[in-house]
Amino acid sequence: MGVTRREFARASVALAGIALTPKLLSAAEPTTDGLFDVHLHLAQAWYGPEHGPISARQLLAWMDAHGVAHAAVLPLVSPEAFWYPVTTEYVLEETAAHRDRLSPFCAVDPRTLATHLPEKKDVVDLLKRYQDAGAVGFGEHKPNLPIDDPLNMRLYEACSDVGLPLLFHLDNLANIDEPGLPGLARALAAFPQLTFIGHGKGWWASVSGGLTKADLHVGYPRGPVIPGGAIDELMDRYPNIYGDLSSSGAHAMTRDPAFGREFLQRRADRLLFGTDYYDLTQRDFPQFSLFEELKIDAEIRRKIGGANARRLLG
Ligand SMILES: [Zn+2]
Repeated sequence: MGVTRREFARASVALAGIALTPKLLSAAEPTTDGLFDVHLHLAQAWYGPEHGPISARQLLAWMDAHGVAHAAVLPLVSPEAFWYPVTTEYVLEETAAHRDRLSPFCAVDPRTLATHLPEKKDVVDLLKRYQDAGAVGFGEHKPNLPIDDPLNMRLYEACSDVGLPLLFHLDNLANIDEPGLPGLARALAAFPQLTFIGHGKGWWASVSGGLTKADLHVGYPRGPVIPGGAIDELMDRYPNIYGDLSSSGAHAMTRDPAFGREFLQRRADRLLFGTDYYDLTQRDFPQFSLFEELKIDAEIRRKIGGANARRLLG
């Protein structure tokens, strides 16, 4: 029996557990150019073999298996961000051969601005070098500093100057803020040309009003969303704030499904699909069933699923 080269390749790929073409899941169907995941990570083996590594090739195989066409790949450089640094240089190198699907971000710990990058020009030049090497965004920004710390503000200014959208993690350990997110509001007002993308437990807890400081760090707040949440208020006041639905984002939409459905529709131009895959042991990605679960219509799926990210990241 003759087996064509193509059939053999298909069978080999199937055996390896990798779909040859993206099997588009329900979340992806109405997005014309496929899902864009704005929050993926490469991983190395330093934390243990069961958790990594995740090379660029493995990331692409995972994306194929989940119907993700494109992704932003985020370094993690602050000591609070991860078990070990995933450097910008590593992300740029690993993604270099796959730029048709993997868009690298860059990251700099803001405390470096107090030591090795004292002048604004130093920071801008470094970011420009990262841009020249392919970086299309800044993040995952996750330092143990107030979100409007002077070092953070200097970093935001440099990102604004070079035009790199900034994806930040906010909770009680990173980019720390008060209930109502007044520090974030100061940053948004100070740098109106800089696109901020919110992520993390504290950010997503803030869909709800009536929060205490401790609520900015609870894992997954449950129950109905209380009116007066900071996210809606900030989105009303500042056109430069977006939300990344990865990780706690999907939970924030489903804890109160009626609110979540309405929020996704109302903020369809400000929300970005993402998962935050960073560890081989992760299995549960509620983002992939979110649109079905909340009965979101095709045009909104198209925007959140990819069109918004493509517009912001070019
Ligand atoms: Zn992440």
